[in-house]
Amino acid sequence: MNIKAFTREERAEYLKTLGQPKFREKQIFEWICRGALSVDEMSNLPAALRSRLEMESVEVALEQRSASDGTRKFLLRFTDGNTAEAVFMKYDYGNSLCLSTQIGCAMGCSFCASTIGGRVRNLKAWEILDEYLVIRRSVGEDINHIVLMGMGEPLDNYSEVSAFLKLIHDPDGVGLSYRNITLSTCGIVPMIGRFGDDFPQVNLAVSLHASNQEKRAALMPVAKRWNIDELIDACREHAEKTGRRVTFEYTLIRGKNDSPADAAELSSMLKGMLCHVNLIPLNPVKETGLEGADRKAAKEFAEMLERLGIPATVRRELGRDIDAACGQLRKKTLV
Ligand code: SAH
Repeated sequence: MNIKAFTREERAEYLKTLGQPKFREKQIFEWICRGALSVDEMSNLPAALRSRLEMESVEVALEQRSASDGTRKFLLRFTDGNTAEAVFMKYDYGNSLCLSTQIGCAMGCSFCASTIGGRVRNLKAWEILDEYLVIRRSVGEDINHIVLMGMGEPLDNYSEVSAFLKLIHDPDGVGLSYRNITLSTCGIVPMIGRFGDDFPQVNLAVSLHASNQEKRAALMPVAKRWNIDELIDACREHAEKTGRRVTFEYTLIRGKNDSPADAAELSSMLKGMLCHVNLIPLNPVKETGLEGADRKAAKEFAEMLERLGIPATVRRELGRDIDAACGQLRKKTLV
């Protein structure tokens, strides 16, 4: 009977069974989205109602701060005891939060820490929203960008992720603009079309990491299910349909996908598409044995793509010193 753990419709139904008027649901939703952690904070509810309501939240089990760049990583504990991580980052354009959408991940990418141990369960829409709310409360600053780039594959949990997007956009609550949200996928091709129809304003990022089918399939099992040509076609369609730039994430792994020939092949594959390549020198994950390209090699790769007509940038490696960078997030137990 956790009052947070309902959809808005379910909460309205529940309040009805308690004999409450319709506007109560909106009042409670507003409190939740302001970051209330207890029903006692909801001062405009009658005391008799407050005493009948229960509320439990996601908790911060551990916070780590980067010594170098202001990044803060949060280990969150969900009400069933499971954990996942989320990362708060500062950019010139504002504060950004990277959220997890699953406990663990089923996708099996060979370079990523989040998939070690597989997928435990999907997160619920309210739990993803609560990651945002408890971290915003904890840092005491506004957060104007969300990236679904934490642990988990958002398009492998589409019903809850889409419910979350609607919740955080809801004008009665946080009211975050869809344009300030980015969803990243490893390439669940049939869901890309659906996502573009449902949320044409939410930014799409695609984890590509290779310039041909053979190399991609060796790094990412998902490529064996949907090949790179199908993926690129779906991305082209998405860009045309939404008029928005698709971001391709490309992790540079030394000796695997970082040669000039790779850059050339990548540029011809992406030619003519409204897109942008975001290069990420591989962040170390000790179990994988893979090594990243250095920053200089990454810059050269980016310059080569630019020369070939593909806009490219090298992503800042925020939070590496606390294992908070891309691909380093885990479910963890505290010892
Ligand atoms: N499952 C989604 C969301 C995760 S986003 C997806 O795959 O897009 C996390 C990003 O970090 C993805 O682009 C992922 O491929 C990348 N990544 C994973 N491991 C990494 C590593 N060790 N170094 C750099 N990037 C990594």
